[in-house]
Amino acid sequence: MKAIEARDVVLSFGETPALRGASLSVSPGEMVAIMGPSGSGKSTLLHCLAGILVPDSGEIHFDGRRIDTLTEYDRSLLRRDQFGFVFQFGQLVPELTAEENVALPLLLGGTRRAAALKQARPWFERLGLAGMEQRRSGELSGGQAQRVALARGLVARPGVLFADEPTGALDTLTGEQVMDLLVESAREQGTTVVLVTHEARVAAYADRQVIVRDGRVNALVNA
Ligand code: ADP
Repeated sequence: MKAIEARDVVLSFGETPALRGASLSVSPGEMVAIMGPSGSGKSTLLHCLAGILVPDSGEIHFDGRRIDTLTEYDRSLLRRDQFGFVFQFGQLVPELTAEENVALPLLLGGTRRAAALKQARPWFERLGLAGMEQRRSGELSGGQAQRVALARGLVARPGVLFADEPTGALDTLTGEQVMDLLVESAREQGTTVVLVTHEARVAAYADRQVIVRDGRVNALVNA
C-alpha cells in the first residue's frame, strides 16, 4: 500500500492562482474526498498529486519519494506504472472493445495482448458487466461505460487511484452503484484513492473529506 502527499503546493495559470499553499497527506490504503466550490483548485491539486502538472513551488511525495522533481518522461512512467485514473466522462477509446479498454494500461506497460486480456476479463464479472466484453463504448450505457473506466483504472493494481468527478455524468442510482464498486474494489486491492467531487453524497464514501477553498486545503469540520 502506498501513500501520497502534497506539501505547500503553489501553482498559477498565468495570472490566475489555482493553488496557494495546498497541503494534503493521504495514508496508504486511505480514500480521501476533495470537495469545494467550482474553481477552488480541486482538479489542479489532483493533477499535481498525479504528476500531470508540476507545482511552481512546494513538493509532491509518493511512496516515500519526491516526484515533482522527476523529468516529464519519468513522471509519465510513474503515471503508467503506479497511478490509475477515472474521469467524469469515462473517456474510453471508442475504436476498442470494452475488454481492450480495460486491458489498455497493461498493454501500455508492455504486457502481451493475450495476458493483458486474460487479466482484464475477471473485471467484467466483478463489476456486473459479464457479456459486455466485446462492446464498444457507443454500445454501453453511461453507467456501464463508467464501470469499464473503473476497471481500466484498477486493472494494473495502481498504488493510487485518482478519480475526478467519477459520477458527475451519472444519475443518482447509477452513481451510487459506481461508487459502491469503486470503494469495494479499491479496498480489496488496498489501493489509496484520491477522489474529487462536489457532491456530499459521493464524498461520504470516503474515509476522510477535505475542502479546497481559494487554493488551500482545509479539514472538513463536523464530518
Ligand atoms: P476546480 O477543480 O475546483 O473546479 P480547478 O483546479 O479546475 O478548480 O481550477 C482552479 C483555478 O484555476 C480556476 O480559477 C480555473 O479557472 C483555473 N484554471 C484551471 N485550469 C486552468 C488552465 N488549464 N488554464 C488556465 N486556468 C486554469
